[in-house]
Amino acid sequence: MTLANHLKTITARIEAACQAAQRDPKEIKLLLATKTQPVETIQAAIDLGYGLIGENRAQEVTDKFPLIHPASIAIMPYEQHFIGHLQTNKVKAIFPYVQCIQSVDRPSLAEKLHDECIKHATTREIFIQVNVSKEESKQGIDPHHLFDFLETFTNLPSLKIRGLMTIGLNADDEMAVRDGYRLLRSLRDEALLKGLLPPLATELSMGMSHDLEWAILEGATLIRVGSAVFGARPPL
Ligand SMILES: *Cc1c(COP(=O)(O)O)cnc(C)c1O
Repeated sequence: MTLANHLKTITARIEAACQAAQRDPKEIKLLLATKTQPVETIQAAIDLGYGLIGENRAQEVTDKFPLIHPASIAIMPYEQHFIGHLQTNKVKAIFPYVQCIQSVDRPSLAEKLHDECIKHATTREIFIQVNVSKEESKQGIDPHHLFDFLETFTNLPSLKIRGLMTIGLNADDEMAVRDGYRLLRSLRDEALLKGLLPPLATELSMGMSHDLEWAILEGATLIRVGSAVFGARPPL
């Protein structure tokens, strides 16, 4: 199958999931997780009209994002996101190339990003990454510490929070995976009610190739899809 066909298949899956969830497909943004893909493939997806892309390694951001042609993207909303674990010493390198950092999960990283914004007299959009699956290896702030963490953002006004992000449990157990996604949604709702999230910070970035339907049923507004569009990745 071609890239265009894979993208159509994903769009159909999103539409079917929205129908099942009685949601409007317009509520769901599709981010293409482009790790390991060459610039030409990323450019091809953008030229097909898919302008929301994310990388999870700093090196791939600085290698590839500068090579994407603005000419082909002028006609559509185009956003470059960072979606992986971010070391504070890599902030400076990726900063010019990303409008949104989805993986803000600790005060030291938030402060570093804020400092970089101040230095350049600009702002950045962020998501707060939460670890809802209780797996030791996963990045993200512990749900019990989320509300304290959110309070620190009153002192970091150049970071504009769009919502919460999580990497779901990597399992076939539908109920266990959906429990995690439901937890993220309820944390968002409670934080909004308490005024810990700004009123417009309603987004939920959750769901990947294998479980986007479950994430949409639980309220995802942004799904991050890689292998279902680009094919299986070679083992690193
Ligand atoms: C790679 C990646 C995805 C996409 O995963 P697939 O299973 O390939 O769809 C989503 N989120 C993050 C943070 C990733 O690194």
